[in-house]
Amino acid sequence: MSIQPRIPPRISQAPRRAGHRRGIDEMHILWISEGMSCDGDTIAVTAADQPSIEDLLMGLIPGLPTVNLHNKVLSPTMGGEDFLAPFRAAAAGELEPFILVIEGSIPNQNIIENGGYWTSFGNDPDTGQPLTVNWWIDQLAPKAWAVIAVGTCATYGGIHAMAGNPTGCMGLGDYLGWDFESAGALPIVNIPGCPVQPENFMETLTWLLHHAAGNAPPPPLDGMLRPQWIFNKTVHDGCDRAAFFEQGDFATDYNSSKCQVKLGCWGPVVNCNVPRRGWMGGIGGCPNVGGICIGCTMPGFPDSFMPFMDEPSEGNLSTLPVKEYGDFMHRMRRITGMALNLEPEWRHNGPELTSGYEPRWDPPTARGPAAPARVRVRAYPPPPEASPKGTAP
Ligand code: SF4
Ligand code: SF4
Ligand code: SF4
Repeated sequence: MSIQPRIPPRISQAPRRAGHRRGIDEMHILWISEGMSCDGDTIAVTAADQPSIEDLLMGLIPGLPTVNLHNKVLSPTMGGEDFLAPFRAAAAGELEPFILVIEGSIPNQNIIENGGYWTSFGNDPDTGQPLTVNWWIDQLAPKAWAVIAVGTCATYGGIHAMAGNPTGCMGLGDYLGWDFESAGALPIVNIPGCPVQPENFMETLTWLLHHAAGNAPPPPLDGMLRPQWIFNKTVHDGCDRAAFFEQGDFATDYNSSKCQVKLGCWGPVVNCNVPRRGWMGGIGGCPNVGGICIGCTMPGFPDSFMPFMDEPSEGNLSTLPVKEYGDFMHRMRRITGMALNLEPEWRHNGPELTSGYEPRWDPPTARGPAAPARVRVRAYPPPPEASPKGTAP
Protein backbone atom coordinates (compact mmCIF):
# COMPACT_ATOMS: atom_id res chain seq x y z
CA MET A 1 0.00 0.00 0.00
CA SER A 2 2.82 2.33 -0.82
CA ILE A 3 2.45 5.30 -3.08
CA GLN A 4 5.67 6.17 -4.85
CA PRO A 5 7.09 9.50 -3.85
CA ARG A 6 6.82 12.57 -5.94
CA ILE A 7 10.01 14.43 -5.26
CA PRO A 8 9.98 17.14 -4.06
CA PRO A 9 6.54 17.30 -2.42
CA ARG A 10 4.66 20.53 -2.32
CA ILE A 11 4.41 22.82 0.64
CA SER A 12 1.43 25.08 0.29
CA GLN A 13 2.28 28.74 -0.21
CA ALA A 14 -1.31 29.79 0.37
CA PRO A 15 -3.10 29.77 3.69
CA ARG A 16 -5.40 26.74 3.95
CA ARG A 17 -7.86 28.58 6.10
CA ALA A 18 -8.78 32.08 7.07
CA GLY A 19 -6.49 31.72 10.07
CA HIS A 20 -3.49 32.66 7.87
CA ARG A 21 -1.76 29.38 8.62
CA ARG A 22 0.50 27.77 6.10
CA GLY A 23 -0.16 24.07 6.03
CA ILE A 24 1.64 21.10 4.55
CA ASP A 25 -0.14 19.68 1.50
CA GLU A 26 1.71 16.41 1.15
CA MET A 27 3.44 14.24 3.75
CA HIS A 28 5.58 11.13 3.43
CA ILE A 29 5.62 8.55 6.18
CA LEU A 30 8.92 6.69 6.30
CA TRP A 31 8.33 3.64 8.50
CA ILE A 32 11.35 1.57 9.58
CA SER A 33 10.66 -1.68 11.43
CA GLU A 34 14.20 -3.04 11.19
CA GLY A 35 14.94 -2.36 14.85
CA MET A 36 14.68 -5.26 17.30
CA SER A 37 11.13 -5.86 16.15
CA CYS A 38 8.58 -8.49 15.25
CA ASP A 39 6.61 -6.20 12.87
CA GLY A 40 3.65 -6.67 15.21
CA ASP A 41 2.86 -2.97 15.27
CA THR A 42 2.64 -2.73 11.50
CA ILE A 43 0.29 -5.71 11.46
CA ALA A 44 -1.78 -4.26 14.30
CA VAL A 45 -2.26 -0.95 12.52
CA THR A 46 -3.84 -2.72 9.53
CA ALA A 47 -6.76 -3.51 11.88
CA ALA A 48 -7.54 0.14 12.63
CA ASP A 49 -10.86 1.49 11.47
CA GLN A 50 -11.25 4.82 13.26
CA PRO A 51 -9.70 5.92 11.02
CA SER A 52 -8.38 3.10 8.91
CA ILE A 53 -5.06 3.37 7.16
CA GLU A 54 -6.92 2.98 3.86
CA ASP A 55 -9.06 6.05 4.66
CA LEU A 56 -5.91 8.03 5.32
CA LEU A 57 -4.09 6.96 2.16
CA MET A 58 -7.12 7.45 -0.06
CA GLY A 59 -7.60 10.99 1.18
CA LEU A 60 -11.02 10.31 2.69
CA ILE A 61 -10.40 12.38 5.83
CA PRO A 62 -11.14 16.04 5.12
CA GLY A 63 -8.45 18.59 5.83
CA LEU A 64 -5.44 16.28 5.89
CA PRO A 65 -2.40 16.44 3.62
CA THR A 66 -1.97 13.80 0.93
CA VAL A 67 -0.19 10.92 2.61
CA ASN A 68 2.42 8.64 1.02
CA LEU A 69 3.15 5.63 3.20
CA HIS A 70 6.41 3.71 2.88
CA ASN A 71 6.23 0.58 5.00
CA LYS A 72 7.82 -2.62 3.78
CA VAL A 73 5.03 -4.93 4.95
CA LEU A 74 2.40 -2.79 3.22
CA SER A 75 4.47 -2.05 0.13
CA PRO A 76 3.75 -3.70 -3.23
CA THR A 77 7.51 -3.52 -3.94
CA MET A 78 8.16 -6.13 -1.23
CA GLY A 79 11.37 -4.36 -0.30
CA GLY A 80 14.43 -3.90 -2.51
CA GLU A 81 15.88 -0.74 -4.00
CA ASP A 82 12.50 0.61 -5.22
CA PHE A 83 11.28 0.50 -1.67
CA LEU A 84 14.46 2.06 -0.31
CA ALA A 85 14.46 4.96 -2.80
CA PRO A 86 12.44 7.44 -0.69
CA PHE A 87 14.50 6.58 2.39
CA ARG A 88 17.72 7.24 0.51
CA ALA A 89 16.27 10.47 -0.91
CA ALA A 90 15.23 11.66 2.54
CA ALA A 91 18.65 10.86 3.99
CA ALA A 92 20.18 12.93 1.19
CA GLY A 93 17.85 15.85 2.00
CA GLU A 94 15.94 15.44 -1.27
CA LEU A 95 12.59 14.37 0.19
CA GLU A 96 10.59 16.39 2.66
CA PRO A 97 8.51 16.83 4.66
CA PHE A 98 8.24 13.39 6.20
CA ILE A 99 7.24 11.70 9.41
CA LEU A 100 9.72 9.08 10.59
CA VAL A 101 8.09 6.08 12.27
CA ILE A 102 10.39 3.74 14.17
CA GLU A 103 9.19 0.26 15.14
CA GLY A 104 11.41 -1.98 17.28
CA SER A 105 14.05 -1.17 19.84
CA ILE A 106 17.38 0.31 18.90
CA PRO A 107 20.47 -1.73 19.70
CA ASN A 108 23.65 -0.22 20.99
CA GLN A 109 26.12 -0.33 18.10
CA ASN A 110 28.87 0.97 20.35
CA ILE A 111 29.16 -2.28 22.26
CA ILE A 112 29.96 -4.38 19.19
CA GLU A 113 33.60 -5.07 18.66
CA ASN A 114 35.20 -5.33 15.21
CA GLY A 115 32.55 -3.32 13.36
CA GLY A 116 29.74 -5.82 13.52
CA TYR A 117 26.10 -4.83 13.36
CA TRP A 118 22.87 -5.77 15.10
CA THR A 119 20.49 -4.58 12.40
CA SER A 120 20.46 -3.81 8.71
CA PHE A 121 18.22 -1.83 6.40
CA GLY A 122 19.67 -1.82 2.91
CA ASN A 123 23.34 -1.66 2.01
CA ASP A 124 25.76 1.17 1.63
CA PRO A 125 26.17 1.48 -2.18
CA ASP A 126 29.82 2.45 -1.80
CA THR A 127 30.97 -0.36 0.48
CA GLY A 128 28.24 -2.95 0.03
CA GLN A 129 28.07 -3.21 3.82
CA PRO A 130 24.73 -3.18 5.68
CA LEU A 131 23.35 0.14 6.85
CA THR A 132 22.17 -0.17 10.41
CA VAL A 133 18.93 1.17 11.86
CA ASN A 134 21.11 3.40 14.01
CA TRP A 135 22.64 4.94 10.87
CA TRP A 136 19.20 5.58 9.38
CA ILE A 137 17.91 7.17 12.57
CA ASP A 138 21.01 9.37 12.76
CA GLN A 139 20.40 10.50 9.17
CA LEU A 140 16.62 10.84 9.17
CA ALA A 141 15.55 11.95 12.65
CA PRO A 142 17.05 15.47 12.46
CA LYS A 143 15.41 16.03 9.05
CA ALA A 144 12.01 14.58 9.97
CA TRP A 145 9.05 16.91 10.43
CA ALA A 146 7.96 14.56 13.26
CA VAL A 147 9.32 11.36 14.78
CA ILE A 148 6.99 8.68 16.09
CA ALA A 149 8.03 5.64 18.12
CA VAL A 150 5.39 2.94 17.67
CA GLY A 151 5.14 0.00 20.07
CA THR A 152 6.84 -0.49 23.41
CA CYS A 153 10.11 -1.69 21.84
CA ALA A 154 10.59 1.61 20.01
CA THR A 155 9.28 3.78 22.83
CA TYR A 156 11.08 2.31 25.84
CA GLY A 157 12.98 -0.79 24.74
CA GLY A 158 10.35 -3.44 25.43
CA ILE A 159 10.97 -7.16 25.42
CA HIS A 160 14.31 -6.98 23.60
CA ALA A 161 15.70 -4.58 26.23
CA MET A 162 14.92 -6.78 29.22
CA ALA A 163 17.53 -7.67 31.79
CA GLY A 164 20.25 -9.94 30.43
CA ASN A 165 19.85 -8.94 26.77
CA PRO A 166 23.08 -8.93 24.75
CA THR A 167 22.31 -5.98 22.43
CA GLY A 168 22.08 -3.13 24.95
CA CYS A 169 18.99 -2.00 23.08
CA MET A 170 16.78 0.90 24.08
CA GLY A 171 13.85 3.08 23.09
CA LEU A 172 14.03 6.12 20.85
CA GLY A 173 14.02 8.60 23.75
CA ASP A 174 17.10 6.95 25.24
CA TYR A 175 18.75 6.90 21.82
CA LEU A 176 17.99 10.42 20.58
CA GLY A 177 17.70 12.06 23.99
CA TRP A 178 14.44 12.91 25.75
CA ASP A 179 14.77 16.55 24.78
CA PHE A 180 15.01 15.77 21.05
CA GLU A 181 13.11 18.16 18.82
CA SER A 182 12.18 17.36 15.23
CA ALA A 183 12.38 19.71 12.25
CA GLY A 184 8.69 20.42 12.89
CA ALA A 185 9.59 21.54 16.44
CA LEU A 186 7.96 18.49 18.00
CA PRO A 187 9.29 16.10 20.65
CA ILE A 188 9.35 12.37 19.94
CA VAL A 189 5.79 11.06 20.00
CA ASN A 190 5.67 7.75 21.88
CA ILE A 191 2.76 5.38 21.28
CA PRO A 192 3.52 2.29 23.36
CA GLY A 193 1.81 -1.12 23.42
CA CYS A 194 2.99 -4.59 22.52
CA PRO A 195 1.68 -4.31 19.94
CA VAL A 196 0.28 -0.81 19.73
CA GLN A 197 -3.51 -0.58 19.87
CA PRO A 198 -4.36 0.20 16.23
CA GLU A 199 -6.57 3.24 16.76
CA ASN A 200 -4.19 4.68 19.35
CA PHE A 201 -1.65 4.95 16.55
CA MET A 202 -4.02 6.11 13.83
CA GLU A 203 -5.70 8.70 16.04
CA THR A 204 -2.35 10.20 17.06
CA LEU A 205 -1.09 10.17 13.48
CA THR A 206 -4.28 11.86 12.33
CA TRP A 207 -3.86 14.56 14.98
CA LEU A 208 -0.26 15.11 13.86
CA LEU A 209 -1.40 15.40 10.25
CA HIS A 210 -4.08 17.91 11.20
CA HIS A 211 -1.33 19.86 12.95
CA ALA A 212 0.81 19.61 9.81
CA ALA A 213 -2.12 20.93 7.78
CA GLY A 214 -2.43 23.88 10.11
CA ASN A 215 -5.77 22.76 11.47
CA ALA A 216 -4.83 21.85 15.05
CA PRO A 217 -2.25 22.49 17.77
CA PRO A 218 0.35 19.79 18.42
CA PRO A 219 -0.98 16.76 20.29
CA PRO A 220 -0.50 17.05 24.07
CA LEU A 221 2.03 14.56 25.47
CA ASP A 222 2.72 13.44 29.02
CA GLY A 223 6.09 13.18 30.77
CA MET A 224 6.90 9.92 28.99
CA LEU A 225 5.94 11.57 25.65
CA ARG A 226 2.72 9.56 25.31
CA PRO A 227 -0.50 11.14 23.99
CA GLN A 228 -2.06 12.43 27.20
CA TRP A 229 -5.68 11.79 26.30
CA ILE A 230 -4.93 8.13 25.54
CA PHE A 231 -2.68 7.18 28.45
CA ASN A 232 -4.07 9.23 31.34
CA LYS A 233 -6.27 6.41 32.68
CA THR A 234 -5.49 2.95 33.98
CA VAL A 235 -6.59 -0.42 32.65
CA HIS A 236 -8.56 -0.82 35.88
CA ASP A 237 -10.50 2.40 35.20
CA GLY A 238 -12.07 0.83 32.12
CA CYS A 239 -12.17 -2.85 33.05
CA ASP A 240 -15.45 -4.76 32.84
CA ARG A 241 -14.43 -6.63 36.01
CA ALA A 242 -13.81 -3.54 38.17
CA ALA A 243 -17.06 -4.04 40.12
CA PHE A 244 -15.79 -7.43 41.27
CA PHE A 245 -12.59 -5.81 42.54
CA GLU A 246 -14.56 -3.17 44.41
CA GLN A 247 -16.63 -5.90 46.08
CA GLY A 248 -13.57 -7.95 46.98
CA ASP A 249 -14.69 -10.78 44.72
CA PHE A 250 -11.55 -12.26 43.18
CA ALA A 251 -11.07 -15.03 40.63
CA THR A 252 -9.01 -18.02 41.66
CA ASP A 253 -8.72 -19.49 38.18
CA TYR A 254 -9.01 -18.31 34.59
CA ASN A 255 -12.47 -19.77 34.05
CA SER A 256 -13.96 -17.10 36.27
CA SER A 257 -15.46 -13.80 35.16
CA LYS A 258 -14.39 -12.12 38.43
CA CYS A 259 -11.47 -9.75 39.01
CA GLN A 260 -8.14 -11.32 38.09
CA VAL A 261 -5.84 -9.36 40.38
CA LYS A 262 -4.98 -12.50 42.35
CA LEU A 263 -4.00 -14.17 39.07
CA GLY A 264 -1.41 -11.53 38.23
CA CYS A 265 -3.35 -8.61 36.73
CA TRP A 266 -1.50 -5.28 37.00
CA GLY A 267 -4.44 -3.27 35.65
CA PRO A 268 -4.88 -0.95 38.66
CA VAL A 269 -1.50 0.71 38.04
CA VAL A 270 -1.00 0.42 34.28
CA ASN A 271 -1.66 3.31 31.88
CA CYS A 272 -3.58 1.82 28.99
CA ASN A 273 -6.97 2.40 27.41
CA VAL A 274 -7.38 -1.00 25.77
CA PRO A 275 -10.22 -2.30 27.98
CA ARG A 276 -12.25 0.80 27.12
CA ARG A 277 -11.31 0.98 23.47
CA GLY A 278 -11.12 -2.74 22.67
CA TRP A 279 -8.74 -4.20 20.12
CA MET A 280 -10.58 -4.49 16.83
CA GLY A 281 -13.86 -2.75 16.11
CA GLY A 282 -14.26 -2.03 19.82
CA ILE A 283 -14.11 -5.72 20.75
CA GLY A 284 -11.57 -7.21 23.15
CA GLY A 285 -9.35 -5.53 25.75
CA CYS A 286 -7.16 -7.88 27.78
CA PRO A 287 -8.94 -8.30 31.15
CA ASN A 288 -12.37 -7.88 29.57
CA VAL A 289 -11.81 -11.06 27.59
CA GLY A 290 -9.96 -13.15 30.16
CA GLY A 291 -6.32 -12.05 29.93
CA ILE A 292 -4.47 -10.47 32.83
CA CYS A 293 -2.82 -7.11 32.20
CA ILE A 294 0.96 -7.58 32.10
CA GLY A 295 1.71 -3.88 31.66
CA CYS A 296 2.86 -4.08 28.05
CA THR A 297 2.47 -0.32 27.49
CA MET A 298 4.69 0.66 30.40
CA PRO A 299 8.28 1.93 30.34
CA GLY A 300 9.29 -0.76 32.87
CA PHE A 301 7.88 -3.60 30.74
CA PRO A 302 8.64 -6.48 30.94
CA ASP A 303 11.03 -6.70 33.91
CA SER A 304 8.90 -4.71 36.36
CA PHE A 305 5.93 -7.01 35.78
CA MET A 306 7.64 -10.38 35.98
CA PRO A 307 7.07 -13.15 36.76
CA PHE A 308 3.86 -12.84 34.80
CA MET A 309 0.84 -14.61 36.29
CA ASP A 310 2.02 -14.16 39.90
CA GLU A 311 -0.10 -11.90 42.06
CA PRO A 312 1.52 -8.45 42.18
CA SER A 313 2.88 -7.81 45.68
CA GLU A 314 1.13 -4.41 45.66
CA GLY A 315 -2.06 -6.20 44.68
CA ASN A 316 -1.88 -8.36 47.78
CA LEU A 317 -1.65 -5.26 49.96
CA SER A 318 -4.38 -3.28 48.22
CA THR A 319 -6.87 -6.13 48.20
CA LEU A 320 -6.76 -6.65 52.00
CA PRO A 321 -8.91 -3.63 52.93
CA VAL A 322 -10.98 -4.05 49.76
CA LYS A 323 -11.84 -7.59 50.80
CA GLU A 324 -13.24 -6.47 54.18
CA TYR A 325 -15.14 -3.50 52.83
CA GLY A 326 -16.18 -5.28 49.66
CA ASP A 327 -17.63 -8.35 51.46
CA PHE A 328 -19.75 -6.10 53.66
CA MET A 329 -20.91 -3.92 50.77
CA HIS A 330 -21.69 -6.94 48.66
CA ARG A 331 -23.93 -8.38 51.40
CA MET A 332 -25.70 -5.06 51.89
CA ARG A 333 -26.29 -4.69 48.18
CA ARG A 334 -27.75 -8.17 47.96
CA ILE A 335 -30.26 -7.30 50.69
CA THR A 336 -31.16 -4.05 48.95
CA GLY A 337 -31.33 -5.90 45.67
CA MET A 338 -33.81 -8.42 47.08
CA ALA A 339 -36.13 -5.56 48.07
CA LEU A 340 -35.78 -3.95 44.68
CA ASN A 341 -36.70 -7.19 42.98
CA LEU A 342 -40.27 -6.94 44.39
CA GLU A 343 -43.12 -5.02 42.76
CA PRO A 344 -45.03 -2.40 44.80
CA GLU A 345 -48.18 -3.85 46.39
CA TRP A 346 -50.59 -1.37 44.74
CA ARG A 347 -50.14 -2.98 41.34
CA HIS A 348 -53.11 -5.36 41.27
CA ASN A 349 -56.27 -6.01 39.33
CA GLY A 350 -58.69 -5.44 42.24
CA PRO A 351 -61.60 -2.95 42.52
CA GLU A 352 -59.73 -0.40 44.71
CA LEU A 353 -57.12 2.14 43.66
CA THR A 354 -54.54 1.62 46.38
CA SER A 355 -51.62 3.57 44.95
CA GLY A 356 -52.24 6.54 47.25
CA TYR A 357 -53.13 8.84 44.33
CA GLU A 358 -54.66 12.10 45.60
CA PRO A 359 -55.80 14.65 43.00
CA ARG A 360 -55.11 18.23 44.11
CA TRP A 361 -57.26 19.99 41.52
CA ASP A 362 -60.70 19.58 39.95
CA PRO A 363 -61.70 21.67 36.93
CA PRO A 364 -64.58 24.18 37.54
CA THR A 365 -67.85 23.10 35.97
CA ALA A 366 -70.68 25.12 34.37
CA ARG A 367 -72.79 24.49 37.46
CA GLY A 368 -70.46 26.16 39.90
CA PRO A 369 -67.04 26.23 41.47
CA ALA A 370 -64.77 23.25 41.64
CA ALA A 371 -65.80 20.54 43.97
CA PRO A 372 -63.53 19.98 46.98
CA ALA A 373 -60.63 17.67 46.27
CA ARG A 374 -61.49 14.07 46.84
CA VAL A 375 -59.99 10.77 46.07
CA ARG A 376 -61.49 9.36 42.96
CA VAL A 377 -61.80 5.68 42.97
CA ARG A 378 -62.49 4.20 39.65
CA ALA A 379 -65.52 1.99 39.72
CA TYR A 380 -64.56 -1.38 38.46
CA PRO A 381 -67.22 -3.98 37.78
CA PRO A 382 -67.60 -6.22 40.83
CA PRO A 383 -65.42 -9.31 40.72
CA PRO A 384 -67.12 -12.46 39.60
CA GLU A 385 -68.17 -14.99 42.19
CA ALA A 386 -65.44 -17.36 42.96
CA SER A 387 -65.77 -20.33 40.64
CA PRO A 388 -64.72 -23.85 41.32
CA LYS A 389 -61.32 -24.57 39.76
CA GLY A 390 -61.56 -25.56 36.16
CA THR A 391 -65.06 -24.15 35.50
CA ALA A 392 -66.00 -21.00 33.67
CA PRO A 393 -66.65 -17.98 35.96
FE1 SF4 B 1 6.78 -6.66 18.39
FE2 SF4 B 1 5.78 -5.84 20.73
FE3 SF4 B 1 8.12 -4.96 19.94
FE4 SF4 B 1 5.94 -4.13 18.66
S1 SF4 B 1 6.44 -3.70 20.78
S2 SF4 B 1 7.86 -4.82 17.73
S3 SF4 B 1 4.66 -5.96 18.79
S4 SF4 B 1 7.65 -7.12 20.41
FE1 SF4 C 1 -8.62 -4.31 37.74
FE2 SF4 C 1 -7.38 -6.36 36.54
FE3 SF4 C 1 -9.35 -6.82 38.24
FE4 SF4 C 1 -9.84 -5.70 35.84
S1 SF4 C 1 -9.11 -7.79 36.22
S2 SF4 C 1 -10.72 -5.10 37.81
S3 SF4 C 1 -8.02 -4.45 35.62
S4 SF4 C 1 -7.37 -5.89 38.74
FE1 SF4 D 1 -0.99 -4.34 27.55
FE2 SF4 D 1 -2.33 -4.44 29.86
FE3 SF4 D 1 -3.09 -2.77 27.95
FE4 SF4 D 1 -3.39 -5.43 27.64
S1 SF4 D 1 -4.43 -4.13 29.14
S2 SF4 D 1 -2.66 -3.96 26.11
S3 SF4 D 1 -1.54 -6.21 28.70
S4 SF4 D 1 -1.16 -2.71 29.07
